This record gives sequence, C-alpha cells and structure tokens, in this order.
Amino acid sequence: MSNDLLIIEDNEQNLYLMRFLLEKKGFTVIAAENGRAGIDKALEHKPLAILLDIQLPEMDGYAVAAELLKHKELEGIPIIAVTSYAMVGDRERILAAGATGYIEKPINPDTFVTEIKQYFRENTADREE
Ligand code: MN
Repeated sequence: MSNDLLIIEDNEQNLYLMRFLLEKKGFTVIAAENGRAGIDKALEHKPLAILLDIQLPEMDGYAVAAELLKHKELEGIPIIAVTSYAMVGDRERILAAGATGYIEKPINPDTFVTEIKQYFRENTADREE
C-alpha cells in the first residue's frame, strides 16, 4: 500500500495549501483538477484516501463520488468531501452520495491533517504528529 493521498480540487490556492500541509506530514500528494482525471488517478494509484472538492467544473463532486463507488477496486478507500457549503442538507447529500465524511472550507491549517486522518489508517507507524 501507498502513502498517497489524492486531492481532486480545481482551485489552485486550495490545492497548494492542502498539498503543503500534507507533504509536511510525510504524505505523497497526487492532484487532479477535475473529476474525470481524479477518477483515473484513483484507479491508477489506489490512494489511502481521496479528498474531493464538491464544486468542480463539468462533473461535480456528487457525480465523482457516485462514479468512484462503481469501481469495486476502490472499495474501502475513504472519500472525504471538502465543502464550502454550510447547509446541513448539502452535507447529508454528499454523505448519501458516498462520501465517508467531509471537512469544511476554508480549511483550518492547524487542524486539517488531524481532521482528515480520522478517516483513514496510515501505513507507517513512525510518522510524527
Ligand atoms: Mn472547486
């Protein structure tokens, strides 16, 4: 297994910050700027978890989550929605679409890595907090 995390995010600044925080903790970040590329990279890399922006061009996060779930070989890989939607209904909708959990944008740099780590198990025991 890998220590890869896949981020599907079309906003450069959001991606930059998430990548920075995760690489600082020793993760390898794979990025895709749209849903189709994200699905391809998920199948190619079988990441530890997938961080999925909801507002994406063409294929939105709901459609991406639904598509990811169709692939048996991706079973068990957590999908963490990254959403700026504040409404409870939207959270329920993305969980219903197959996300394992969600975190809110704007992300909090102090808690981001801890927040997402609750959704997956790391492969190395020696990583420092
Ligand atoms: Mn977006």
